[in-house]
Amino acid sequence: MSKIILTGDRPTGKLHIGHYVGSLRRRVELQNSGEFDKIFIMIADAQALTDNADNPEKIRQNVIEVALDYLAAGLDPEKCNIFIQSAIPELTELTFYYMNLVTVSRLQRNPTVKSEIQARNFEANIPVGFFCYPISQAADITLFKATTVPVGEDQKPMLEQTNEIVRRFNNTYGEILVEPKILLPDNAACLRLPGTDGKAKMSKSLGNCIYLSDSPKELKVKVNSMYTDPEHIHVEQPGHLEGNTVFTYLDAFCIDDDFGKFLPEYKNLQELKDHYTRGGLGDGTCKKFLLNILNDRLEPMRQRRKQYEQDIPGVYDILRKGTEEARKVAAKTIEEVRHAMRIDYFDDHELISSQSEYFKNKK
Ligand code: ATP
Ligand code: MG
Repeated sequence: MSKIILTGDRPTGKLHIGHYVGSLRRRVELQNSGEFDKIFIMIADAQALTDNADNPEKIRQNVIEVALDYLAAGLDPEKCNIFIQSAIPELTELTFYYMNLVTVSRLQRNPTVKSEIQARNFEANIPVGFFCYPISQAADITLFKATTVPVGEDQKPMLEQTNEIVRRFNNTYGEILVEPKILLPDNAACLRLPGTDGKAKMSKSLGNCIYLSDSPKELKVKVNSMYTDPEHIHVEQPGHLEGNTVFTYLDAFCIDDDFGKFLPEYKNLQELKDHYTRGGLGDGTCKKFLLNILNDRLEPMRQRRKQYEQDIPGVYDILRKGTEEARKVAAKTIEEVRHAMRIDYFDDHELISSQSEYFKNKK
């Protein structure tokens, strides 16, 4: 069986380091591993409209921002298809068929949707499209027969829902669809990177983000104001690591080589943590170390982004080509789906001839 990746992001803003450690970094590694037959990266504009219906301009302006972030992070259009969701009408069609395979109460149980409804104050007025987005996500994944979906932990319920739909469809209509596997980050800190405020997951909607495209100056301000241990007031006091965002980010980004480069007094992160919890290590030192590491990782991305920003028509060309390629695969799957569901009337010669016999012979 072919190995196929599908994953993507909503163009509701620029991408942040939560996206990077949760999914984007992995995508680039998988792309360069050469182990996958096809890689589809989707800019989910239609999904973004489900909670931004009154602000389409925001989505329109952010498609290019997400595309620039992808290319800056190292996604290579020679190795993967970056495409725009709304340009694939087959996705809408498949979603419509899947809606018959899912109950309202099943959707209501989805914990990610529950918390997102709360975060958006949608309790009394949930747009139907937003409520159904897990179904459309199942269509996104299965239309491309994806086997592997590298995403953050918040997507787990979506993958469970997708697999239920696949099983229901295959049982009812025949084995057409493929059950995908979620690929979560193997580092616990990356599953759900917290925001700089330390409160919730880093999320575009919450304004607690470090963006991949932040300048060194912006980055410095954000790192310096990061949430640490509120009880660690004097340097000599023992500090706590639990919930300490600076250490969570170090867990997500730091490698041993960073000590040689930026903090040679320590050999590795464990030594630094031990000193912090023992007391005698200030938050300033840790923040400065983190700042150096983040600048080291983001600088090549900033440079690549700058280059692509000089050729926006070229970036749209990449998206157009990726979308054309995605449509070819989409058309093939939807043909199989229609055939399996027996709604491919015009190609069903047996149906037409048996009915013509029936009506001719009818007394
Ligand atoms: P929005 O607020 O518009 O939903 P978002 O920041 O939650 O934006 P999405 O576009 O919903 O981002 O998520 C895209 C991908 O990034 C998903 O795979 C998601 O799991 C992953 N992701 C998003 N935020 C984080 C995070 N803080 N930590 C780890 N992974 C994340
Ligand atoms: Mg989200």
